[in-house]
Parts: sequence; C-alpha cells; structure tokens
Amino acid sequence: MKAVQFDFSVARYAYTRIASRFNPREYYGPRSCVSLRDVPEPRLRGPEWLVLRSVFSGFCGSDLGAITLHDSPTTQPFTSFPFTFGHENASVVEEVGNSVSGVSVGQRVTIIPPLGCRVRGIETMCAPCRSGYNAICENFAEGNLSPGTNTGFCRDTGGGWSKYYLAHESQIVKIPESLTNEQACMIENLCSALYPVMRAMPEEGENVLVMGCGPIGLGVIASIRALGVKCHITAIEPAELNRCKAKEKGADEVIDPSSESIYERASKIAGGKIYKPILEKHILMGGFDRIFDCVGSTDTINLSFRLAGGGATMVLIGIQVTGKIDWTPVWMKGLRVIGNLGYGEVVYEGERTHCFNVAIDLILKGKIDMTDLITHRFSIEEYKRAVEVNTNKAKYGAIKTIFDLTDQ
Ligand SMILES: [Zn+2]
Ligand SMILES: [Zn+2]
Repeated sequence: MKAVQFDFSVARYAYTRIASRFNPREYYGPRSCVSLRDVPEPRLRGPEWLVLRSVFSGFCGSDLGAITLHDSPTTQPFTSFPFTFGHENASVVEEVGNSVSGVSVGQRVTIIPPLGCRVRGIETMCAPCRSGYNAICENFAEGNLSPGTNTGFCRDTGGGWSKYYLAHESQIVKIPESLTNEQACMIENLCSALYPVMRAMPEEGENVLVMGCGPIGLGVIASIRALGVKCHITAIEPAELNRCKAKEKGADEVIDPSSESIYERASKIAGGKIYKPILEKHILMGGFDRIFDCVGSTDTINLSFRLAGGGATMVLIGIQVTGKIDWTPVWMKGLRVIGNLGYGEVVYEGERTHCFNVAIDLILKGKIDMTDLITHRFSIEEYKRAVEVNTNKAKYGAIKTIFDLTDQ
C-alpha cells in the first residue's frame, strides 16, 4: 500500500534546511524527508490491537511543522522514523485483535492519538496518564512500542495518510450513526481547542482574547460558545477568510493586525491604558482577562503578555520554536501561564469523561460543527499539492485540508 512518510536523515535534513530557503518546494522535493512510498500492510501487534482502514485524515499544523522542519529539536527523542503521518482520523475497523471487545469489523471509529503508558504496555503508569491526561505522558520513548507521542508520529503504528494503520483498543472512539465522516475527522482538531478551553474555562463577563484564527483558534471560539459561556470574545487574525469564520463562530470583535493598531483597538475593547516604554513595544495596563494564544510565535507570545490585564490567565496552545520572550509583563502583571498539549479527561455535566466524548456530545446536540472549515480535499497521491496549499493558506483560501482515502 502507499503511505505518505517522513524519514529523517542528517543529510536530507541539512539539504532541505538550506535548499528550502531558495525554493520552498524543496520541502517536498526528491531529497526532502517526506515522500509517498510503497510499504507493507500492517499486521496486528497483539491481542489488544486493531487494524483500521483510513477514510479521511486531516492535515494538521503539527504535520506541516514536521515537513517544513520547524519542530523544536527537543522533541526528537520522542519520535521514530520512518513514520506515516495522519492523526486526525475517520476510519473503519478492518481487523480486531482477540482480546478487543465492544468493537467489530466494519464499525466507524476515530482514534485518540496519544501513545501513552497504556498503549505501550507500561504497567506502572506515569502521573499524567494516571490523571487521565496521556497527551503529556512521560513515557513516549519507553515500553514495547517505538518512540512517538501520537499515532502519525511513530514508526510502529502507521497513520491515516495510508490505507491501513494500527490502533490500540484504548485509543478507539466509536462514531455515532448520525455523525458524518467529515465530522468524525474534525473531532481531534476540535479537542485541541475544546480541552484547553475547559481547563481554563472563561467566566461570565470576562474579556477573552483569541490570538490567531486557524482551525485551533476558531475551535476555541466555537467551544466557548458551545459551552454557553457569556463572555466577550475578541480575535486577532490577519487573513480575511479566517476573520469571517471567527465572526461566524461567535467572536464579538475581530482585529486585523495588518490594517489597524492592535493596542488601540484592544484598549477600547478591554478598557486598558496604553503605555509607551522608550526602548520597548507598547504595554497595556488593564487588558484582557483571559488569552488563548493559538499561534505560539515569538510575536504573539510577547503581544499576549503585553495585552493581558492584571492577574490574567494566558493559555499557550500554539507550538513554534520561539526567539526572545520578554517575561517582564508576566511578573509585573502577576499572570498565570498555562501550557497545553492535546487533550485528556474532563468533568462534563457532573461526570468524568474523555474530551472526545464531550466533543461528540456537543456535535450531536447541534452546538458545534467544524466541517465548514474543510476547504480542500486531496488524495494521498496529491500530497505535494497539499503541502503547497498548507504552506500558503491565505493564497489558496485554505483553512483545513484533509486527505480522502475512499479510493485507496
Ligand atoms: Zn492535529
Ligand atoms: Zn504515561
């Protein structure tokens, strides 16, 4: 079968780093780390495993980060090569291991991607896994599976950017009859936004700022509205299409940083006063109560800190390798900074459950739907085109792109 894979070698990495500066197409050229390969079909790893057939698989910012070599080298020990991409999946069960119960061949499923202690056969689970937040497992390079934080970044499991891949029974989430495959394929992406919102839930009447309106930022806005929190939401986003979507998802104000002063609009909205240090950027005193940074760049982190009000909460969701961060506003304003990766269990309607189940419930109740963000579909043979579109989203009018494997 064919699979879109990432294979690291120092030579390929070094070549792509240099050549891509002159021609971005080198990111997916013949000497890059990404290619469409013929690989053997996967076999069950044990009685607790399943073989899944991929129907749709999303293209995530984290996939693009790997392809364009923008991932922090810090994450390298927690990945194994070559791996097949694809962690945002709508799939069908193809084969079931002997000890798997409650799921049968032909059932539509999605997967919870993290490859934590349970999946790795580690009996004494780490503290995060015990607490129900396996996306930050401490054993991503341990146990009986090759290193990998998630399905789609581990050489042993494969991923949704190929016809078949493997999943552990603990990763399986059944798709209810009334959900479409498109909705199922967007659940993982939605939970990357819904979970941090539930961890740092806005309070009624707060001034909330969402930095960046890609699929995650839009998911944050939609999640806050789906959960019925009556707070004021401001979004900052340069792309016009995404600004329109931010309004549709429930933002009260949307700031275009390319045509207006962020500080002036922010001070009008959140009521703070702008100060102008002689040698540094502006700073707002009395700004937003809660900020979700869904970009995570040097600029957005610095800006978030400077726009925050006293005692505000800043949630860092975006992942980028950053340059110099000025931490002064953090201590000066007594900010609370929360880092977030992925999702885990939450308390919802009085019960403890995984965030994926909350997302499904909200979709079933008609309170949230992210399928309108799907702007492009590709076959895996068109993966180069998919990378091109994802590296130039504004130019192609793209928000979320997915691979359609129904013809594989
Ligand atoms: Zn993702
Ligand atoms: Zn763990």
